[in-house]
Amino acid sequence: MSGEAVGEQPVVIVTGAGSGIGRATALLFAERGHRVVAVDIDARGLADLGAEVVPVIGDVSTAAVNEAAVAVALERFGRVDALVLNAGIGGTPPLSAEGAVERADRILGVNVRGPIHGLRAALPALGASRGSVVFTASVAGLRGDTGNWAYNASKGALINLVRAFALDYAAQGIRINALAPGLTRTAITANVHRDPEFLAALERRIPLGRFAEPREQAEAIWFLTSPAAGYITGTTLVVDGGIDADLGILPLPHTPS
Ligand code: NAD
Repeated sequence: MSGEAVGEQPVVIVTGAGSGIGRATALLFAERGHRVVAVDIDARGLADLGAEVVPVIGDVSTAAVNEAAVAVALERFGRVDALVLNAGIGGTPPLSAEGAVERADRILGVNVRGPIHGLRAALPALGASRGSVVFTASVAGLRGDTGNWAYNASKGALINLVRAFALDYAAQGIRINALAPGLTRTAITANVHRDPEFLAALERRIPLGRFAEPREQAEAIWFLTSPAAGYITGTTLVVDGGIDADLGILPLPHTPS
């Protein structure tokens, strides 16, 4: 590690911190006394995160931006205690569409190669702090959705990656888990909120009857990185209002009571 540890405040790197779940996470950790390095491809979302938050602008699918984020954390604060690899994109086309494979490459590049680069860049610092990592997967990584194959593949990959990486780095005291959010009110789902009928239909299919707020996902990330989760590694915490609990078959109109 380069740099001297400055003070006792823990340090977190959050990717995709310009919007939605990542933004809520950066703000929550800052509020609770962490120093925050916030990474996003879109500079606008990083502009007003507050004085405790250091922005790094760039594409997480590259090694360079992940290495830059770790370098900034070490130079400014001397350590990395938590790594939240959260940046992600959707936008799966039909497989038969022009450019479908190239789009899938991009989705896998941001959603899977990004977190692999992120973890790789931070390993020495996380080993030094016996730190903890959260990958933002999705309930879309637990099952398939119609018309969402590339995103499903990327999020399913993250859920198995945390198992494999957790095994590889447990001996160094690094814990690695995934969060699987269900439907959450962010830019990714903004189109749904512009269509009240579609929104109501979706909400009827969520046992808790509503979308999550980004802060509710941030709280789960906070828990996974905290000492309270000190014996938890290689697992996925599902925060979905009950979506995954439902097989989706019953009740039918003729279901016997
Ligand atoms: P969001 O669009 O509000 O935020 C995503 C952020 O990631 C944006 O600020 C965007 O600029 C950034 N980003 C995108 N590509 C990037 C890249 N190549 N490099 C750096 N930054 C990049 O969406 P969100 O809902 O907050 O999504 C956060 C994570 O949660 C994603 O991984 C998403 O797949 C996952 N997720 C979201 C939901 C949901 O319903 N919102 C559900 C399950 C999982």
